Amino acid sequence: MDSAIFLDNAATSRTDPEVVSAMAPWLGDNFGSPATLYAFGSQAKIAIEEARQHLADLIGADPKEIFFTSGATESNNWALKGVADALEGKGRHIITDKAEHHSILMPLRYLEKKGWEVTFLPVDGDGLVDPDAVRNAIRGDTVLVSIVHANHEIGTIQPIAEIGAITREKGVTFHVNAAQTVGHVPVDVAALGCDLLSLSGHKFYGPKGAGALYARRGVRITPLLHGGSQERKRRAGTHNVPGIVGLGKAAELARKNIDAEVERLTGLRDYIFDSIEKNMEDIRINGHRTRRLPNNVNFSIEGIEGESIMLSLSYPTTENARPVYISTGSACVSGSLEPSHILLALGLPAELAHGSVRISMAKEDTREDIDYALSALAAVAERLRSMSPVYKRGNKQCAAGAQGDGCDCEAAS
Ligand SMILES: *Cc1c(COP(=O)(O)O)cnc(C)c1O
Repeated sequence: MDSAIFLDNAATSRTDPEVVSAMAPWLGDNFGSPATLYAFGSQAKIAIEEARQHLADLIGADPKEIFFTSGATESNNWALKGVADALEGKGRHIITDKAEHHSILMPLRYLEKKGWEVTFLPVDGDGLVDPDAVRNAIRGDTVLVSIVHANHEIGTIQPIAEIGAITREKGVTFHVNAAQTVGHVPVDVAALGCDLLSLSGHKFYGPKGAGALYARRGVRITPLLHGGSQERKRRAGTHNVPGIVGLGKAAELARKNIDAEVERLTGLRDYIFDSIEKNMEDIRINGHRTRRLPNNVNFSIEGIEGESIMLSLSYPTTENARPVYISTGSACVSGSLEPSHILLALGLPAELAHGSVRISMAKEDTREDIDYALSALAAVAERLRSMSPVYKRGNKQCAAGAQGDGCDCEAAS
């Protein structure tokens, strides 16, 4: 990783060295369990409560409203299944949207099989959910609305506070998946008006396998994990002490740096957009241009496969001596021919969805690294286009009408 430029931070981020140092004692000699009553374990108990306070401070919650989990996938599953279980006597209808993360969509598919009805609202061409559509979808038997704070692929930030005002007025529980925003942009649960909020440590320079669910005091939710009496009987299982301590440290660091980083990364993000618009032909920016995460850039390059670009950039070649890691919404990697459901929900034709690339930045990224990555990307795109049988410069219809020939994964299948 030394010379590599890692621009896939929406997938995961480098653990901050200060977080690693904070965790180290709890992986070594300090192995006591916070559940035990003798003094050895009580140190872990104190460390966990400190971490809880840091996390509560970061999102404007009371520490009693923070429940540690293994990450956002667990928090999302818990929020959806836990509210469904607690409130099924009231109704069996849930509202979400079509561009959600799989850790929301899959639990909801599961609930559908159990007889729940789920409304998947459309998003507009920028990926935004219309608050009025949420209002109109709420029925007498609606018990839960779940909307992501910011989309992990296209970075679009949803009008959560507006939706929160509506759910509050209607008395419907509101869950927000904030895995992409906590630690990256200011998040305040009161301002958002949510009842439940999921977050994940490894998305903001904390450890993997450590996250939390914020549950507002009084919200009705059944535990997902039953067993011991940890987390005030709401989430059983011996605490992941090193992970929780690391998560707390990441929250503490994020709070210190957040305003400066938002400004710096927003500048870099807009610089990338300006630069690709100036220097590359036939591209489409995906997601809202300004209402988006400061560290997220997503665009489609007409006539080529996102996967080809991603793989080319990840190996040092004549075009890039330093490996560059980015991501794509093209799904050939997973063995499926379907491009990302998120890009399709925006209304992108499949060819453009296949040609998408995501650059997601981190606090260590400099303007110099970004310039290097952009020139490597432009060179690779140029080479791939020169070999493409379907791409004709400036001919938008060409790629749109050429499904099949242009897609490497179809050719390979
Ligand atoms: C990463 C991510 C998740 C999953 O988080 P884990 O902690 O890895 O389980 C869920 N939702 C979004 C939006 C994410 O970006």
